[in-house]
Amino acid sequence: MAETDARVAIVTGAARGIGAAVATRLAQDGMAVALLDLDEDSCAEAVEKIKASGGTAIAVGVDVSDSAAVDAAVQRVADELGAPTVLVNNAGILRDNLLFKMTDDDWDAVINVHLRGSFLMSRAVQKFQTEAKWGRIVNMSSTSALGNRGQANYAAAKAGLQGFTKTLAIELGKFNVTVNAIAPGFIATDMTAATAARVGVDFEDFKKGAAAMIPVGRVGTPEDIAHTASFLVSEGAGFVSGQVVYVAGGPKD
Ligand code: NAP
Repeated sequence: MAETDARVAIVTGAARGIGAAVATRLAQDGMAVALLDLDEDSCAEAVEKIKASGGTAIAVGVDVSDSAAVDAAVQRVADELGAPTVLVNNAGILRDNLLFKMTDDDWDAVINVHLRGSFLMSRAVQKFQTEAKWGRIVNMSSTSALGNRGQANYAAAKAGLQGFTKTLAIELGKFNVTVNAIAPGFIATDMTAATAARVGVDFEDFKKGAAAMIPVGRVGTPEDIAHTASFLVSEGAGFVSGQVVYVAGGPKD
């Protein structure tokens, strides 16, 4: 039996990409996993795969930037799987544009999903974590937090998540709740494929170009991030808190 057996985990933005890989990995680790995404049906494939391998998973549709919907979704997870004590705030969107072309909507949409969404989800889940006197939160930041042309909104949100992470680590530590951030570099997902399409470069060429700049000589996979998340939410990682782990195939800071 896995050491994390019976823990209930929530992963947001879990229909595909990094979120689906994290959810799959946490289920393999023995957790019951709730896959949250905008559209409940979009999680069906990932949920079925987890169940087919003997895991426990449910899909829940929610917009993480909607306060009432978040509270209802977290309560539904508690009712159907048990008290959620592991949370991976992964849902994300891009609305890239240079500053002079960035609209109010581009700014608000990105800040709302990444920052407000992580705040609302964490506030809803901490109730169960502090009651259980155990918990793990992982926030998905990005190397873009260090600055990236065309991403003023996204970089601000991802840097904001790092301050959010450190503050929650200070507030929740006494309840045996750790809070960390993962800052992925280039990971091959629909998100990076969409970026390639936007700049008019074939995705395979885009990945080759990125890999040439990465010390380990390849781009990342969703499983690279899932492995790091698995460690951070594990029982044994209880003394790791308030950290930002760059998972980028080389050093970043
Ligand atoms: P992805 O393939 O685009 O998946 C993101 C998921 O989030 C989608 O399923 C999306 O649903 C969902 N989502 C968007 N808005 C939401 C909302 N308001 N409420 C609930 N779910 C929502 O992206 P990814 O590449 O796996 O990225 C996952 C996370 O890692 C993001 O936070 C991203 O910023 C971060 N990250 C990615 C990279 C990379 O290179 N890929 C690098 C650094 C950081 P829909 O499909 O319905 O929109």
